[in-house]
Amino acid sequence: MNQVPPLSGHDVAADPALAAALVREGADWAEGELRQLGTLAGTAKAQEWGRLANENEPVLKTHDRYGHRIDEVEFHPAWHELMTVAVEHGLHAAPWTMARPGAHVARAAKFYVWSQVEAGHGCPISMTYASVAALRHAPALAAEWEPALASRTYDPGLRPMADKRGVLAGMAMTEKQGGSDVRANTTTAEPLGDGTYVLNGHKWFNSAPMCDVFLVLAQAPGGLSCFLLPRVLPDGARNAVRLMRLKDKLGNRSNASAEVEYDDAVAWLVGEEGRGIRTIIEMVNMTRLDCVIGSAAGMRLGLTQAVHHTRHRRAFGRLLADQPLMRNVLADLALESEAATVLMMRLAGATDRAVAGQAQEGLFRRVALAAGKYWVCKRAAGHAAEALECLGGNGYVEESGLPRLFRESPLNGIWEGSGNVAALDLVRALTREPETAEAFFTEVELATDPRISESVGRVRKTLAHATEADARRLAEEMALVLQASLLIRFAPASVADAFCASRLGGGSGRAYGALGPGRDLDAILARI
Ligand SMILES: Cc1cc2nc3c(=O)[nH]c(=O)nc-3n(C[C@H](O)[C@H](O)[C@H](O)COP(=O)(O)OP(=O)(O)OC[C@H]3O[C@@H](n4cnc5c(N)ncnc54)[C@H](O)[C@@H]3O)c2cc1C
Repeated sequence: MNQVPPLSGHDVAADPALAAALVREGADWAEGELRQLGTLAGTAKAQEWGRLANENEPVLKTHDRYGHRIDEVEFHPAWHELMTVAVEHGLHAAPWTMARPGAHVARAAKFYVWSQVEAGHGCPISMTYASVAALRHAPALAAEWEPALASRTYDPGLRPMADKRGVLAGMAMTEKQGGSDVRANTTTAEPLGDGTYVLNGHKWFNSAPMCDVFLVLAQAPGGLSCFLLPRVLPDGARNAVRLMRLKDKLGNRSNASAEVEYDDAVAWLVGEEGRGIRTIIEMVNMTRLDCVIGSAAGMRLGLTQAVHHTRHRRAFGRLLADQPLMRNVLADLALESEAATVLMMRLAGATDRAVAGQAQEGLFRRVALAAGKYWVCKRAAGHAAEALECLGGNGYVEESGLPRLFRESPLNGIWEGSGNVAALDLVRALTREPETAEAFFTEVELATDPRISESVGRVRKTLAHATEADARRLAEEMALVLQASLLIRFAPASVADAFCASRLGGGSGRAYGALGPGRDLDAILARI
């Protein structure tokens, strides 16, 4: 009695904020494929893949039975099922092969929907997507690798690129002594004179090590540079990339993250020597977008689980979802989730148009992405904890799936520039390129509303005197005013008003569920 049925058999893409943003940001043509993926994402079968991939973690095999190094990682079949769907639906690189406006938006929406099934496999999918942006700094290499990167066939296994129907890419920047500060990297790259380099050194975090190719930072004679390093060389020999061990991580357990050593590994220069950060940052900016998408997806997943549970569970004589205080909590979680979704879709739209050459969108994206990465990823962990609590003790039990969501939730805040680094990057952009600030304010003020003009005044004041120590406050204020502006323009008044009152006006508590009086909770919850 009073136990909640599992949430499955639903369309994960049936999300009004997502659907409206898909049209607004120019990808209405993708609605059919999005709904198809959403329906698959809601099946018990896909949910089971997610569980199995996390409960049967990848295993490192350093040597074969004869003692030869093989440096391979074995994954459960469920991982391969998840990867197959992601690749077949073009979540890894499809936009780069399509001249169609909205291609990056469609891909973002699909990544958001499919991430709700399982987050760990999003790592190699995201890195493959992002790698193309950096690889284009070396047109010959891009011409060689892009067709295989963009292929819709998932073809796992270490073989030369020419023998594969599709390949995946990863990224290796972080070393023991330098993560955020990659200039401290010590891995060396020595030119051989034939266009190739040999790399010696290590990487401390190298996720998805079974990818076919990696973009790597190493110190060349001309300074820190970006390299393309395949796991298998064109002649079929294994490149000298040694997987030393896999990380024992808090979450993200379906995905492997390795410590690796290079022992005369062969690599090709991408871009110019000494400009490695500028080159690889193109990739990092794309993966930062996916951090925002991933965190927004986690919020939506937590919200739908919380709403489902409370609509079926009774306490003190009525459904939890009808208890006034629970309604306040759910509505507050819904506001946070919708604000994250509209922001991530706006960032995807900016990416789409910036890639197509629209300079103003590039300027806006430069700062909105840094602020969004900081804020949405920061909010994810608290959101997951509160969603879990809506299920009471059942939420604390692994079978509910909420512990997995909770363990995953801090990760997007750490990688691709941890909180402080993202906030400092925002201040750097605003200071060095003041035109980015104007692009941001122009966008925000498209909502002609006194609540926005007041907040913009506050942000401008913070910005005028911003020191490094103020970077988080500035990032938070900017993200909130942007989210408020988007909600005023595109969400129902019930959502926008409650968001502005609680997030801009101080009309809320510090925990979720303390929305002030006069909010239309029924209207907010009717959207879930
Ligand atoms: C699961 C997982 C997978 C990963 N996969 C990869 C991968 O595939 N490839 C890869 O290259 N890396 C990967 N990383 C590494 C990740 O990108 C780094 O951990 C991250 O960039 C932070 O670097 P760090 O760990 O060296 O921390 P540090 O750089 O030591 O930072 C520690 C803390 O100090 C803060 N900080 C740093 N500088 C400043 C400053 N100037 N002012 C104020 N605060 C500062 C940071 O925000 C952070 O909170 C992965 C990490 C994780 C957890």
